[in-house]
Amino acid sequence: MALIVHKYGGTSVGNVERIKNVARRLAKWHRAGHQLVVVVSAMSGETNRLIALAKEIQASPDPRELDVVASTGEQVTIGLLAMALKELGLKAKSYTGWQVHVLTDSAFTKARIIEIDEKKIRADLAEGTIVVVAGFQGADEFGNVTTLGRGGSDTSAVALAAALKADECLIYTDVDGVYTTDPRIVPEARRLSTITFEEMLEMASLGSKVLQIRSVEFAGKYKVKLRVLSSLTDADMPLEEEARSGTLITYEEDKLMEKAVISGIAFTRDEAKITLTRVPDRPGIAYQILGAIADANIDVDMIVQNISVDGMTDFSFTVQRSEYAKAMEVLNTKVKDHIGAERIIGDPKICKVSVVGIGMRSHVGIASQMFRALAEEGINIQMITTSEIKISVVIDDKYLELAVRVLHKAFGLDQAPA
Ligand code: ADP
Ligand code: ASP
Ligand code: MG
Repeated sequence: MALIVHKYGGTSVGNVERIKNVARRLAKWHRAGHQLVVVVSAMSGETNRLIALAKEIQASPDPRELDVVASTGEQVTIGLLAMALKELGLKAKSYTGWQVHVLTDSAFTKARIIEIDEKKIRADLAEGTIVVVAGFQGADEFGNVTTLGRGGSDTSAVALAAALKADECLIYTDVDGVYTTDPRIVPEARRLSTITFEEMLEMASLGSKVLQIRSVEFAGKYKVKLRVLSSLTDADMPLEEEARSGTLITYEEDKLMEKAVISGIAFTRDEAKITLTRVPDRPGIAYQILGAIADANIDVDMIVQNISVDGMTDFSFTVQRSEYAKAMEVLNTKVKDHIGAERIIGDPKICKVSVVGIGMRSHVGIASQMFRALAEEGINIQMITTSEIKISVVIDDKYLELAVRVLHKAFGLDQAPA
């Protein structure tokens, strides 16, 4: 008997038929003798619908109230799934995040989980009850409802698995695993049977939304055994087969010899670039610029400063596109004249494309291979950042799909590994 956390995303619970299917799948795992905790998302499209409603009333919705609204989608699916399980004759009980209780900080719309009280869940499991928990939500120390950021149900699931010291956390979704890149963009993308934790962390942080980045961080910190697999297969497929399907996140470096140098390509359209031209090149300037941005609670991703000419330099950085307008306002009102910058140029029409692979540690020439592939398509690189196992470039938004396809081919990702 094992304690297993399942998580089903929006498409997997997108209608009543699919919810009944999830219940059938859970019944199979239950019959095999496992204790089950199930985390579910809202039905696909529901969270978007709720946020859009809020925006019809307030252009920038009050964050506390937005969380009250956005968190309701998951309350519907936990109730429906618990009913579907009961219809199959199983004991089931649904809990919202705050009923559990999932304690978070008070950063509305992007709260972090601090602690999970798992006592109620353990008592239910001991009685053979399947526990259904709403993903994406918690409550802060004052009892305010919070949400964990888009895609946050993954994090709810992994955090619960960590708190319960579960044997495994299975993330069921609408693809059958982690692919070399988003299969919606590159049909030739291949499923990886394993991916190292470090690569998954980079892929998620660089835009592959198959797992929310914080869920991967949690998994690494608590060494949660994590697998991504499909919820759209036959619910009655043999359990042993299902348990081995999908992609396993591994914590040991796979034998490098057997691995491709590059494991995957990630991308994001969620960023915007800001450049301050002709700023004086003297100590404290970067701090004045980025300090004001940090004070406004805006996260910065890439940063590039040019060499100075005549004591002046250009300074560029990227922020989340959703925070672009706020960042521009801060710079124009609080920074520009203060530091004597000539101009502030904003560009929200950029994207970031990254190649990821731990094989980079032992191979040279990956950057030049990447840049050549982009150059051959006439794609101009605006910014570059690297780490030990990834190279990211900022390019014009209109080249996103072309760049991903070209790189996928250039690194041989559409070929099965030798
Ligand atoms: P869920 O609702 O189950 O949480 P998401 O839509 O959040 O599902 O994540 C699954 C989607 O992630 C897939 O449909 C796919 O389009 C996208 N995706 C992006 N990058 C990858 C990748 N490298 N591997 C697999 N899926 C990816
Ligand atoms: N329903 C939330 C969202 O759409 C959380 C999730 O699906 O993981 O972002
Ligand atoms: Mg998701």
